[in-house]
Amino acid sequence: MGHGDEPKTYRYNETPVYTASNGCPVHIPYLSRVMDPQAAQRVGANGPLLLQDFHLIDLLAHFDRERIPERVVHAKGAGAYGEFEVTDDISDITIVDMLKEVGKKTNLLTRFSTVGGEKGSPDSARDPRGFAIKFYTEEGNWDWVFNNTPVFFLRDPAKFPVFIHTQKRNPQTNLKDATMFWDYLSTHHEAVHQVMHLFSDRGTPYSYRHMNAYSGHTYKWIKPDGTFNYVQIHCKTDQGNKTFTNEEATKLSAKNPDWHTQDLFNAIERGENPSWTCYVQVLSPEQAEKFRWSVFDLTKVWPQSEVPLRRFGRFTLNKNPQNYFAEIEQAAFSPSHMVPGAEPSADPSFNPTHRDGYMNVHGNYGANPNYPSTFRPLNYKPVKANQEHEKWTGAVLAEQIPVTSEDYVQANDLWQVLGRQPGQQENFVKNISGHLCGAHERVRKATYQMFTRVNKDLGARIEIATEANVAPSARL
Ligand code: NDP
Repeated sequence: MGHGDEPKTYRYNETPVYTASNGCPVHIPYLSRVMDPQAAQRVGANGPLLLQDFHLIDLLAHFDRERIPERVVHAKGAGAYGEFEVTDDISDITIVDMLKEVGKKTNLLTRFSTVGGEKGSPDSARDPRGFAIKFYTEEGNWDWVFNNTPVFFLRDPAKFPVFIHTQKRNPQTNLKDATMFWDYLSTHHEAVHQVMHLFSDRGTPYSYRHMNAYSGHTYKWIKPDGTFNYVQIHCKTDQGNKTFTNEEATKLSAKNPDWHTQDLFNAIERGENPSWTCYVQVLSPEQAEKFRWSVFDLTKVWPQSEVPLRRFGRFTLNKNPQNYFAEIEQAAFSPSHMVPGAEPSADPSFNPTHRDGYMNVHGNYGANPNYPSTFRPLNYKPVKANQEHEKWTGAVLAEQIPVTSEDYVQANDLWQVLGRQPGQQENFVKNISGHLCGAHERVRKATYQMFTRVNKDLGARIEIATEANVAPSARL
């Protein structure tokens, strides 16, 4: 685009009539005059303002409510529309209509986000990224509420609110707090695998276009014979994984805090439509029972050498929103939005659908009764499903799943993966030490012990690098 060109986003074809929020053209009724929208009604040239000025009241009332409360997590985001296409026949393992035949296409909406920061926070912050996709299938909306990491910090949802508090601001200082951050993580070792992902360079992706999406959670796909498999879904970026170093990400936070938002919007405007290839990992219930790790443990991956990826589709983002607030900020995704043939597993992530609540923007089921009413019979579509593997027995417990030596194995596997890529282990140690050095000494020591349990060499390297970074005044 040359300097004199008008950007495409500023080109309009019509001149709409200016109205108040009720759609009424703005005028002073008793004078039948169009009023100046930049002026309030007043008595005489310098007189008091009039409460009858509906235009002014309407304007201010709406302005006061312009911001809906931001999301507690995933507040800063960007998104776009696109299309999914089935590329490979997987009709032997699924009856989901959207995946029925090669070439079948489905429209979709994505929303990418950081997790911990507020709405104005920098896109390039070290954080996992949300990667949510809403497929507008012929059998209802199917939401994939994914992250750019294959695992998560926790495997028990009861820990989630507390954990998130530790990643946010200190209640007294209102500052991000390294002691709080590491105090929690160094005392909840099941998080260490995800911590390894977060502090590798993949914790600072180059853009939303250059990162993968993973279901993390395990789902059930129903087969044509009514039996099911457990599945995990991977969406790999066709642009290639690309990351920032810690230094680059930090610099960009100040220079262009909206870099990821801008990169996605501009790429699509240029016609460089990003795409992702989708794969599924599949385990039968019998295989799952014999598997080394619980298939419902969100802190574990399914090693690809044992459970290979099977390709089934590709999606491409090809259209930007017309209005960010209406289409992206308000976009709401729920893991419970599934379609026939896709089901939650016993993975403890499932939340039943609720009615009402904030950000309910699609009619809230209109006048339909909010209970199973005899006045409003519903049709239920039969879906074949084998419940055999859903017979669970055991006492009711409210205990944490204990951390065992198994919880350090995959974190060490990732440390080895980083070792195969030049400079990645060095960057990881640098990324951790640059953050951990701000924590209290007792917390630092507990964190060294945690990493030593992953790998002795890793623990020692983190301790040396971190202590070298601790300011003398912070030593206790
Ligand atoms: P594999 O060697 O078969 O696979 C390694 C995986 O690591 C690939 O999926 C690759 O994803 C990913 N990877 C490569 N470089 C990095 C990096 N710098 N940061 C994070 N991930 C990277 O090994 P396993 O399946 O046995 O897994 C080994 C470790 O790899 C795991 O402990 C886990 O932490 C990590 N991993 C595993 C995944 C899985 O589903 N099995 C998925 C992603 C990571 P890509 O091809 O996209 O580069």
